Amino acid sequence: MSNITDNTIATQLSDVKKRIHDALVTQHRDTDSASLLAVSKTKSAEAIRSAYAAGQRAFGENYLQEALEKQTQLTDLDIEWHFIGPIQSNKTRAIAENFDWVHSVDREKIARRLSEQRPSTLPKLNICIQVNPDEEDSKSGVTLNELPSLLESIASLPNICIRGLMAIPAKRDNFEAQRDALLPLAKALSQLQDTYSELESPQLDTLSMGMSADLEAAISAGATWVRIGTDIFGTRD
Ligand SMILES: *Cc1c(COP(=O)(O)O)cnc(C)c1O
Repeated sequence: MSNITDNTIATQLSDVKKRIHDALVTQHRDTDSASLLAVSKTKSAEAIRSAYAAGQRAFGENYLQEALEKQTQLTDLDIEWHFIGPIQSNKTRAIAENFDWVHSVDREKIARRLSEQRPSTLPKLNICIQVNPDEEDSKSGVTLNELPSLLESIASLPNICIRGLMAIPAKRDNFEAQRDALLPLAKALSQLQDTYSELESPQLDTLSMGMSADLEAAISAGATWVRIGTDIFGTRD
């Protein structure tokens, strides 16, 4: 349970938006070229309601059951739901049915199931391929070397729209090191854009990277979604 007040969430949300704005201006990027995904994992439906009341529409969740419970409490709100956690194949149907985006696709089987299970009444499911840039055993994601063949194997799936790449790099404590860890993702996306430039799909326009601790570095490396939890909702238990 979160005991953070509405007011605190609104203030912190506004501080994060200002950081995004300032980082974009510093990088001479368009001020609408990066969006804020509010990561609400472990936080209550009321906390989401507070951020929504302060204007936030896109929310990211890591745990399916927890996310579905909050969704049923928030059906009156027009939320764009993003799934950002590890995916087991027995969870794909509920994800395909209840989310607008999935940032954490890291294998062909999951992409195939999401496409097959996406209801035809809904628009295509937006997905990002999760990359593991530091090749850490504790994290999901393909290596940059594995990326082209995974993309090729899923590029023509009919009910998903492949939007780009997502990463959670290892922690680094300064701006340059954080940025240098993310630049290879930007380069990989740009190479894939060249490869697929003649085709309508995939629509490769997305780099989902940057969290509370490396938001500015991620924006300097080209992030288009930054995923911020702690700095909006407070620390998690
Ligand atoms: C928890 C989480 C975030 C948010 O991290 P903070 O450091 O709290 O901003 C972003 N992305 C993913 C995939 C997460 O699991």
